[in-house]
Amino acid sequence: MSQPVDLFKKLTAHCKEYGFIYQSSEIYDGLSAVYDYGPYGVLLKNNIKEYWWKSMVQMHENIVGLDAAIFMHPLTWKASGHVDAFNDPLVDNKDSKRRYRADQLIEGAIEKFQEKAEKEVEKAKKRFGDSFDEKLYRETNPRVVEYLKKATDTNDRMNEALRNGDMAGLGALIAELEIADPDTGSRNWTDVRMFNLMFNTQLGNIAGEEGKLYLRPETAQGIFVNFLNVQKTTRQKLPFGIAQIGKAFRNEIVARQFIFRMREFEQMEMQFFIKPGTQQEWYDYWKQARLKWHLALGTDAGKLRFHDHENLAHYADAAVDIQFEFPFGFRELEGIHSRTDFDLSEHQKLSNKKLQYFDPESNENYVPYVIETSIGCDRMFLAMMGNALVEEAVGENSDGEGNTRDVLKLHPALSPLKFAVMPLKRNEQGLVTKAKHIFNELKLHFPGLYDDTGSIGKLYRRQDAVGTPFCITVDFDTLENDTVTIRERDSMAQQRVSISALEGMIRKEVDMSRLFKG
Ligand code: ATP
Repeated sequence: MSQPVDLFKKLTAHCKEYGFIYQSSEIYDGLSAVYDYGPYGVLLKNNIKEYWWKSMVQMHENIVGLDAAIFMHPLTWKASGHVDAFNDPLVDNKDSKRRYRADQLIEGAIEKFQEKAEKEVEKAKKRFGDSFDEKLYRETNPRVVEYLKKATDTNDRMNEALRNGDMAGLGALIAELEIADPDTGSRNWTDVRMFNLMFNTQLGNIAGEEGKLYLRPETAQGIFVNFLNVQKTTRQKLPFGIAQIGKAFRNEIVARQFIFRMREFEQMEMQFFIKPGTQQEWYDYWKQARLKWHLALGTDAGKLRFHDHENLAHYADAAVDIQFEFPFGFRELEGIHSRTDFDLSEHQKLSNKKLQYFDPESNENYVPYVIETSIGCDRMFLAMMGNALVEEAVGENSDGEGNTRDVLKLHPALSPLKFAVMPLKRNEQGLVTKAKHIFNELKLHFPGLYDDTGSIGKLYRRQDAVGTPFCITVDFDTLENDTVTIRERDSMAQQRVSISALEGMIRKEVDMSRLFKG
């Protein structure tokens, strides 16, 4: 258990130390669940967004982009169901004054039942050795059967209560299961109540409810209300999609785990408008397409999995998460939702404006169905950082640098910097001038860095830690024959190449286009 937690601690410390992520307003002791992206963070985040945008918009002739405003007419959120149904069940501990999501506390108890059953199975496995029939044991051992039944029953009761908005039912479960505050052990709970996750603010010129504005909790609604504008101005025919990247805001009750759950975050969402009746086909298509997008980055397939939703949101007829194995376990990274015609139909009703498509093939008007793909940019960032950060044993180098290195093995297309140029000696004017010249040429093509602030070994380590795929060293031979040493981040292999070959070598590795091929 301790290893993933340590890895997570290391990851968050690394993000700060190397200028990827800072706590918001840190000098005032921070603002909880709000983060700022530092110089390397913003580069990595922009690359993630570029990869997503290009794969959606540039690679699909039938997907176009949009950048809708964060503020929208308040009726938008009534129509979408967010005013009435975008709630989480909240419970406070009266002693610790800590606030929790009731469903998450109950899920914790379910996990404990499952863990207990697994422990029994593991013990039996050891006891019986080769003759152990695991299936039979799971089905017949009274303790295992009881634990698993408790897990299933609790899960069913929780889902039933969530579906019916039965807060008292959730409270009763917490009491029955004797769930204690994870931090203090107290069982002194308030009643469970619903808490709306939308932030709101007020227009300056209209008082009261009328002037109440929401900070959007998802970018999707900006797409729905613009559906006809976009369709008409781009003359798209169904099926077609609208893609958008933008900020979203949720007043999360429990916001821990660094940038996994934030109150201000960024989403990359695409709504794909289709003919009713074709939703299963397109749902399957986007499930596979999105998984492929993740795998193209070289992410180990074992770290990604689909997880079907048990409790469908009010707008969906099917929904699946792509989960990623974060340092704290498998969690949702992206959602793929079959949203039916719910959103467009509700906007039609409340706005009294038709949001229909005229199908030239069937000669009929209808409200399209929608398949949505929705991924949090920040969660993708965390997934990529968590996946990439490795502590490796390496031999001590000639500068006496330690025998381990922290290296960020990001896909080179995502790396914040693509190259760094360093002179072998910073006091040799000839080397410095030449190195700066090489840097100035390469920076026309890629983001990079000139650095002469330390020994080569130290500079290599620093670039490893921020994931720079190539380090270029300029030495005395360079002045003679225009060749340099280029060192590759992951293998640490060095080769001598001519300066004129550098741009091509770097481009071959960092160019995003290779992610789209195949
Ligand atoms: P969760 O169950 O983790 O709260 P969700 O199902 O509410 O997520 P969606 O409404 O489907 O999430 O949002 C789509 C994506 O937006 C998620 O897959 C996730 O990557 C991202 N996301 C949602 N909430 C947050 C948040 N508070 N902080 C960071 N990213 C988020």
